[in-house]
Amino acid sequence: MNRRMFLAKNLDRMIEELGRIVAIPSVLDQGSAGAGRPFGRDVGLALETFLTLADQMGMDTVNYDGYAGEVTLGHGEHMVGILCHIDVVAAGQGWNTPPFQLIRKDDALYGRGSSDDKGPLISSLYAMKYIQEQGLLPADSSIRLIVGADEEEELRCIDYYVKHASRLPDVSFVPDGYFPLVNCEKGLIDFDLIWKGQKRPDAQACIVSLSGGAGRNLTADSAQCRLSVFEKDEKFVLDRLKAVEELSISPDQGDFVVETKGVAAHAMQPEKGKNAINLLLHGLKRSGVLFDRQDFLNAYEQAIGIDLNGQRLGCDFQDERSGILTLNVGVIQLEEAQIRLKANTRYPASFSYEKIRSSLIAGLEKAGFEYQECLSMPPLDIPRDSPLVRKLMESYQEVTGDREHDAFSIGGATYARSIPNAVSFGPLFPGETELAHEANECLSVQSLERMTEIYISALEKLLE
Ligand SMILES: [Zn+2]
Repeated sequence: MNRRMFLAKNLDRMIEELGRIVAIPSVLDQGSAGAGRPFGRDVGLALETFLTLADQMGMDTVNYDGYAGEVTLGHGEHMVGILCHIDVVAAGQGWNTPPFQLIRKDDALYGRGSSDDKGPLISSLYAMKYIQEQGLLPADSSIRLIVGADEEEELRCIDYYVKHASRLPDVSFVPDGYFPLVNCEKGLIDFDLIWKGQKRPDAQACIVSLSGGAGRNLTADSAQCRLSVFEKDEKFVLDRLKAVEELSISPDQGDFVVETKGVAAHAMQPEKGKNAINLLLHGLKRSGVLFDRQDFLNAYEQAIGIDLNGQRLGCDFQDERSGILTLNVGVIQLEEAQIRLKANTRYPASFSYEKIRSSLIAGLEKAGFEYQECLSMPPLDIPRDSPLVRKLMESYQEVTGDREHDAFSIGGATYARSIPNAVSFGPLFPGETELAHEANECLSVQSLERMTEIYISALEKLLE
């Protein structure tokens, strides 16, 4: 039986089984967590339901204490892996259909998790079933589908799995991203900048509060400060501030509140947004008013200003594969004796973590900031001509006929970074709208068929 015939025969069952697991709202719920179900009752139940299904197909299954599951076909040493997840984000508002029911409408399947990542999970299982039924698994090989249960939150699933699994697959693909394939992801560092400098005694205006931004991974959509101004300086200060276009000023209980508006965008593409923190600090500095925190404003202008790529820090590194470094200051807080800025940088894959870290520290310390690192993730960089990428690209091209789109790089971090020798491979096709995490998440029946055909072909090639 060829792949198309197999799909024609199995499609209805695939959709029915997808419906069964979409109906379990596997959103993290610490409140109902218990033994064997560390992420709550429903996440646990969804994982158990899926493993039972694989078990009934005659595959070997292991439940790693509810953190992750494992479905294995064959016993051979050469192991091809697939990494998916069963947990989903909360439904949120704005659905036209019940989010935890798989509803078929105009050849699209609506429901939370339909595309992220339950659809690709069922698709992967059926790709394995095809290999099993057709007797295509060589004796020296095996296929292992790893199912995480905490991908959307803290990746405790894959951490636990990597610690407890007897071994990891030799090569893997991860149906939790984009087609054709993502083989290069920028490195990432989360860090705080701390300013502990003195206040100026001769200031015309004092910054009594300062805040802005919702998270280090977003450009700030608003920022504000409260100014206390000496009466004798009031006219001068207000005239100067009002001359700066980005600043909006309003009186409030004897003080003045200065605000800026930005546009929130993901920190991996700061140029798509507008950072209100940069606008505020840059605007205050440009006003020519002397602030008590003037030294901080000067230092910020020296180190960051309105840069998006770390130019002033001498960190605007770039390479051909992954583009230029991005740097985003997403949160500002005035704490007792210091100012804290929460930042995130994503650096090109050919640069080392050590190089980036030492360049950041050098630039920031020169301006007078303290650097506090919170988290780092090394880049993912699997060469275009590696057997893994070559074979997956061939499968994609063979099934879709699309030779225009090639393997690409992103600034974001996908689930593929969790295990070695893995790349993100589907399920979103070029031109499809990304609805993961949004209301009315859906998967077209055609995409489900096409991705399954691609995954079958990929397994065939990786098993060769
Ligand atoms: Zn996902």
